[in-house]
Amino acid sequence: MKILLIEDEQRLNTFIKNGLVQNGYVVDACTTGSEGMEWAATSQYDLIVLDIMLPGQSGLDVLYNLRQFNIKTPVIIISALNSSEHVIKGLDAGAMDYIKKPFDFGEFLARVRTVTRKGDPRSFTKYKVKGLELDLLSRKVTIEEQEVELTKREFALLELLVTNCNRVLTKAEISEKVWEVNFDMGSNVIEVHLSQLRKKLRTDIIHTKVGLGYYIEGELQKQ
Ligand code: CA
Repeated sequence: MKILLIEDEQRLNTFIKNGLVQNGYVVDACTTGSEGMEWAATSQYDLIVLDIMLPGQSGLDVLYNLRQFNIKTPVIIISALNSSEHVIKGLDAGAMDYIKKPFDFGEFLARVRTVTRKGDPRSFTKYKVKGLELDLLSRKVTIEEQEVELTKREFALLELLVTNCNRVLTKAEISEKVWEVNFDMGSNVIEVHLSQLRKKLRTDIIHTKVGLGYYIEGELQKQ
C-alpha cells in the first residue's frame, strides 16, 4: 500500500509519515499542493492524505485538480477546519473521509484501512496461494503454516505479488507501488529484495519472466 501525504506543517507531516511507515505503508510526503499534484500524476497511490490549509493552492483546489485530471485515487482530508460546513464541502468535493485535527492516530489508521479497501464489499484481508498465507491486518506471513519474518518492504512486495496473482508485474510497476517517488530505476534494489524474499519463503513461489517481470502463479483464495 502506497500513500501520498500532503501536509505543510513539518512536525505533523513527519509524525504522520513515520506512523504510517511503522504500520507497513510506503509513504511519499510533501508539503505543497503543486508537488503533491505532480507526484499524484506520475506515480500510483492507493490513498492521498490531504491537508486543506496549504500554501499556494489549497487542499480543496488539489482535490478539484486531481479529479479534473481524472486521477481517482481515494482522498482523506485532515484539517483543523472543523465546522460541519467545511466537512460537507470536503466530502462533496470528492473526499472519502474528513478527519478533524487533532486526531487520534489509531483512529486515523482505522480510517486509512477502511478507505483503502477500495469499495470492495468483501474487504479481503487474508490471501492464500500454494501454501503461502498472507494476513494484511496482522501482517503475518506463513508458508506451510510456518511463520516467516519479513521486513516492511518485503511484506509490501509480497502483498503486491499475491494480490496480483497470475499477473506479471514489471519493475516499473513494482517500484511505483512499493518504493518512494525518488526511486532509482537503474539500481538493483528490487532484485536484491526479491532475492531476500525468495530466500525467506524457502520455496520457488515467485517466478521471473525474463525481460518482463515477476509473478506468483496459482489459485488465489481470498477471505
Ligand atoms: Ca496546513
